[in-house]
Amino acid sequence: MFKLSKRLQGLPPYLFLEIDKAKRKARLEGRDIIDFGIGDPDQPTPKHIIEALHKASCDPANHHYALDQGMPCLRKAISDWYKRRFNVGLDPETEILPLIGSKEGIAHFPLAFLNEGDYSLVPDPCYPPYKAGTILAGARPYLMPLREENAFLPDLKKIPLSILKKAKLIYINYPNNPTAAVAEEGFYKDIVKFAIKNKIIVISDLAYSEIAYDGYKPVSFLEVEGARDVAIEFHSLSKTYNMAGWRLGWASGNKDLILALAKVKSNLDSGIFSAIQLAGVAALEGKQEDTENMCRIYQERRDILMQGLKSLGWQIKPLKAAFYLWIRTPKGMDSIKFANFLLEKADIIVTPGVGFGKYGEGYIRMTLTVPGERIIEALKRLKKLKW
Ligand SMILES: *Cc1c(COP(=O)(O)O)cnc(C)c1O
Repeated sequence: MFKLSKRLQGLPPYLFLEIDKAKRKARLEGRDIIDFGIGDPDQPTPKHIIEALHKASCDPANHHYALDQGMPCLRKAISDWYKRRFNVGLDPETEILPLIGSKEGIAHFPLAFLNEGDYSLVPDPCYPPYKAGTILAGARPYLMPLREENAFLPDLKKIPLSILKKAKLIYINYPNNPTAAVAEEGFYKDIVKFAIKNKIIVISDLAYSEIAYDGYKPVSFLEVEGARDVAIEFHSLSKTYNMAGWRLGWASGNKDLILALAKVKSNLDSGIFSAIQLAGVAALEGKQEDTENMCRIYQERRDILMQGLKSLGWQIKPLKAAFYLWIRTPKGMDSIKFANFLLEKADIIVTPGVGFGKYGEGYIRMTLTVPGERIIEALKRLKKLKW
């Protein structure tokens, strides 16, 4: 009776339907499922952060509507963190905006700049809100394939001039979900040049800046000269401090872009619970050992899983950052078929690559949010499989 809006109808189809159904069925049957499909840290939030929330939540001063632009102490903590981590100085007043998780900001940002007929340049495969945010703003995503032969970086030269004329935004995300690819300064410099030449806003999603291995340190797009004229960068506390359910992130970068996002948000939400903001201050200003330990745990799991899969003859790329293995499917099997096969024959859940976009076909994603002993059990099961 009620017809959905064109915007909602225009969203990409949900491709995990079949596998979701199979997952539910397997769980109902009481099968011993090992789930490599979850992109949510499995470890708890560090204790000092929980204690900060508890203390702040007991203070009635924190029970009111929060300021739209975030508490000054949180913006200062973010600015100090940026300086320490990337040696980039940001004005807490104008260049930082706390968010109810970074997904919220990423999905709302296009409302500030896209009109009907405009394009955003979206990597494919990608984190789904890039496409969804564009479509919900009434514009169209232009897909930039991320191909293995190009180290999963977009090839800017392949974008047609006719699209460039109508493109307003470009999304980049390194360390990348789902491919786990990383980017270096050279690529970022090219993006800055590209953005200035074509008058395109750069959206850098840095959710995995702190999840890295073997001493590798991901760089911020804002470190590159000229980046602050064209870019907004999104950060999240979800992965860094195991705070996915808390909903806390931020945007930083060009002040006009920050102001525009703040304007959109002031019409949609009424700020972040102040106690959560104060817990965020405790996270950013407190000891960082928990994050280091967590990376060590992921690294151990990575080594067990990669060595195990390699010994089974799977082709595995090195993993420097983020917690995803992006693995080619066997010859003759597409990603949904292979994911279903692993679920039916081994009670193992993986994410089919096509769920992240059509250029994700031919791959599956496995996450490192599974304890080591379960990874060993999964490897045992895989060893017995034949296809
Ligand atoms: C997990 C993730 C985020 C973080 O989302 P929050 O809303 O901050 O929890 C952002 N971008 C990517 C690519 C992610 O994988």
